[in-house]
Amino acid sequence: MDVTLFEKIINREIPAEILYEDDLSIVIRDIAPQAPTHLLIIPKKPIEMISKASDDDQMILGHLLLTAKSMASKLDLKDTFRLVINNGAKAGQSVFHLHIHLLSGRSMSWPPG
Ligand code: AMP
Repeated sequence: MDVTLFEKIINREIPAEILYEDDLSIVIRDIAPQAPTHLLIIPKKPIEMISKASDDDQMILGHLLLTAKSMASKLDLKDTFRLVINNGAKAGQSVFHLHIHLLSGRSMSWPPG
């Protein structure tokens, strides 16, 4: 499989604003923010999308959510944020390396578009 855009960011082959990194994940600022705070929580393992994750990925998936939680706390988002995973092109996915969007800083409507 081709190296994903996010693997290139993880490998420092292309630049990004990296806010956090550990053995399993990296957190960057989205290049085209859809809210005043728009982060991407990305596993270092290039899982294509959540529907392709396996039972072996349980720890990584839990880690991503807890990383989102700690980023929200670090950035003082006051328990007001939205986490989004787009799965598949028709659901809005454009980068085929799993990531969680963390959006905050504006009011949001439901249902999402
Ligand atoms: P999705 O459409 O759910 O796959 O989300 C992909 C996200 O990656 C979009 O919100 C893009 O704005 C963002 N993105 C694309 N290229 C970059 C980049 N080089 N650095 C940071 N974010 C990016």
